[in-house]
Amino acid sequence: MPAPKTLIGLSREELVAEMATLGAEPFRARQLWHWIYHRGARDFVAMTTLAKSFRAQLAERYSVARPVESRAQVSGDGTRKWLLAFADGQEAECVHIPEEDRGTLCVSSQVGCTLTCKFCHTGTQRLVRNLDASEIVGQIMVARDALGEWPSPKDDRQLTNIVLMGMGEPLYNYDNVAKAVKIAMDHEGLSVSKRKITLSTAGVVPMIARVGSELAVNLAISLHAVTDELRDVLVPLNKKYPIAELIAACRAYPSASNARRITFEYVMLKGINDSPADARALVKLIAGIPAKINLIPFNRWPDAPFECATDDTIGKFADIVNAAGYASPVRTPRGRDILAACGQLKSASVKLKASERLKQSAEAAISGTPAAG
Ligand code: SAH
Repeated sequence: MPAPKTLIGLSREELVAEMATLGAEPFRARQLWHWIYHRGARDFVAMTTLAKSFRAQLAERYSVARPVESRAQVSGDGTRKWLLAFADGQEAECVHIPEEDRGTLCVSSQVGCTLTCKFCHTGTQRLVRNLDASEIVGQIMVARDALGEWPSPKDDRQLTNIVLMGMGEPLYNYDNVAKAVKIAMDHEGLSVSKRKITLSTAGVVPMIARVGSELAVNLAISLHAVTDELRDVLVPLNKKYPIAELIAACRAYPSASNARRITFEYVMLKGINDSPADARALVKLIAGIPAKINLIPFNRWPDAPFECATDDTIGKFADIVNAAGYASPVRTPRGRDILAACGQLKSASVKLKASERLKQSAEAAISGTPAAG
């Protein structure tokens, strides 16, 4: 029997088309949408506004199953991290960060990453594959399940914000990310407003304008250095899209205004990019862009080749940025004890060569267990 097709991650139009194959009217798709994304139904039996026979028909062909939790961890500070396994056994991580006035879900867009930023743990894991829209939305569904937030509450949510800052480069998987973001923003479903969604990129310049015109979510740029010489090393993508081009794209970002500032992320690396001269160069570089600078204390990971700047240095850096008129919040590291903080995410998934995959499935066939990955 073929695996049931998941309905999670289909756009509204696709869901209508899918239901048409069963001879069901578009309003059935609307009801389904409501059950899936507003009520969070985990199976078709629960969808009691649909006829029993129709529910049975749906259950035969489709699923609304979430990615499987391989591991769930809770940090001493309340941050939760899930390692999620997808249908093919590949895994990615997702993190919920509760704060007093909000709760942020940090979502992954790829298994592994191609960018190899020198300070990032995910960067030491090769890209295995893109996540599809169902797997990106699936992370939100898992978090909502765990937080008990169904039906989608209007107020007092524990999951108020979404940041595309987990594993992977979202703008190297734009189509799936865009589809997932549109589902998350839908008012009759998960209903997370575009103002509460932030997409973080290392700077895939040609894609930035599309984010602005098609999604209009908040934009965060992983800047981390103020000269091409240093950024070429820390964020190798800079060799393709250097700082001047990146900043020009930010200046042109349509929703950049005082109400919706662009966030520049800047990881504080001891003795590398943390001097007062760096801070002054930074404010010069972004002059005129409505922006805030998010200073991120470097989060360690095993064998990382950097140290975090001292609190004193970070304070002085923040003061210079502040004095120039930019908010410069220092991002409080959250969930470090469970490697859930920025740049610490990694899964054990590896990209196998075709020959290795064949060998694994042959072995699995012999032993009767499914092959991983
Ligand atoms: N690829 C995207 C999104 C993932 S990274 C991007 O580069 O923006 C999310 C943020 O965490 C980025 O700003 C990244 O540079 C930062 N980061 C990566 N490793 C880090 C570490 N070890 N300590 C602190 N921040 C880190």
